[in-house]
Amino acid sequence: MTDLLPADRLDALRARVHDLMPQVRADLEALTRIPSVSLDAFDQAHVEASAEATAALLRAEGLDVEIVREGGRPAVIGHRDGPPGSRTVTLYAHHDVQPPGDDALWDSPPFEPTERGGRLYGRGAADDKAGVMAHVAALRAHGEDLPVGVTVFVEGEEEIGSDSLPTILERHGEKLRADAIVLADSGNWDIGEPALTTTLRGMVRAVVTVRTLDHGVHSGMFGGAVPDALMVLVRLLASLHDDEGNVAVAGLKEGVASDLDYDEARLRRESGLLDGVEVVGSGSLLTRMWTKPSITTIGIDAPSIERSSNTLVPQARAKVSMRIAPDEFDLDAFELLKEHLLAQVPWGAQVEVELEERGAGFAADADGPVYDQARAAFADAWGTPPVDIGVGGSIPFVAAFAEQFPEAAILVTGVEDPDARAHGANESLHLGEFEKVCVAEAVLLARLGALPD
Ligand SMILES: [Zn+2]
Repeated sequence: MTDLLPADRLDALRARVHDLMPQVRADLEALTRIPSVSLDAFDQAHVEASAEATAALLRAEGLDVEIVREGGRPAVIGHRDGPPGSRTVTLYAHHDVQPPGDDALWDSPPFEPTERGGRLYGRGAADDKAGVMAHVAALRAHGEDLPVGVTVFVEGEEEIGSDSLPTILERHGEKLRADAIVLADSGNWDIGEPALTTTLRGMVRAVVTVRTLDHGVHSGMFGGAVPDALMVLVRLLASLHDDEGNVAVAGLKEGVASDLDYDEARLRRESGLLDGVEVVGSGSLLTRMWTKPSITTIGIDAPSIERSSNTLVPQARAKVSMRIAPDEFDLDAFELLKEHLLAQVPWGAQVEVELEERGAGFAADADGPVYDQARAAFADAWGTPPVDIGVGGSIPFVAAFAEQFPEAAILVTGVEDPDARAHGANESLHLGEFEKVCVAEAVLLARLGALPD
């Protein structure tokens, strides 16, 4: 399909993006200086400011821009028509960021973008203000000659769960409808190795409450005959995995991840696993992390050690976070978890399992003409074709788009690499890779513009 884009046109686009990078970077730094943390506890004036700054960047590229609010943080929607009859592409990113966390853990201030060793450090420098700027760079690269109709949608509350996104999609969905939707909030497989994210696990969070007594009683007097709530709770939690560490809840779906090189040494290094601690589960490591379910107890309400006394605890609670296979329906997964737990209850204890939150996974239909052009565009930018990767975590908005626009090709791309540390201290963007991301997106627009019906 390389015939769609003549070599001289490709070279010209590459050169154009290269020339644009100093200004793209300056604009990225300006966006990164705005501490647009969307969490309630932070000053939301900064999120307003980042929406305004994003809107200004899009207006400068000739888009009709509006800032929309549907009960949540401000989102920016901009549109420019392509040539008559051309395809349409929607480009997504988000302008809000995670809190910086402890400033002391940063080697340079989180909201003062700083370059070290070819990387730009700062909160949002990668996630996802570089996603915003990749879209702007692709528009700039085409200037007046935009080959497709483009809608840019920059959300303002991705980091707090995109609560008003369903309403935005309901009220403004027609503006976002397109032949291809590029969601630039993920990353590549490694430096020099581009990727398309084709699967995301879904998520279920549940709270398990155990009661055995109507009040706490002396553990010396009654212990041995009367079960306490923690005794029951730890058995329930232990039942969630088999001896190998695989999830033991029957009936959950599992898939197989793509066959990429990822060894135990890399996993140990990236996760910080302590010497002597074994990895758990079975199947390839990527299958375990991308396409099989996992269950983690993320919180327990029980007396702290400091406040503990010789008492049989009457009630205890645990919050359980479950990741589910990309094609598993989240409510089904919750019901299976609940059934499993209730079937394991020892000694007639009273147990309740409540659903706290759920999010659908995503499995792309990663074939067809748009995907072909995306793979070709990535190969043009990197000199090597992209691999298909999964993400073990969940990005709820991806499923929301897939559900709303079933006919669109959904491409999950992004600027992150394994060292990006999105959400952590010292978040950073690899500047060399960032230029390739911008080239790939500019080339993708050109290719989709040239693609015959
Ligand atoms: Zn993000």
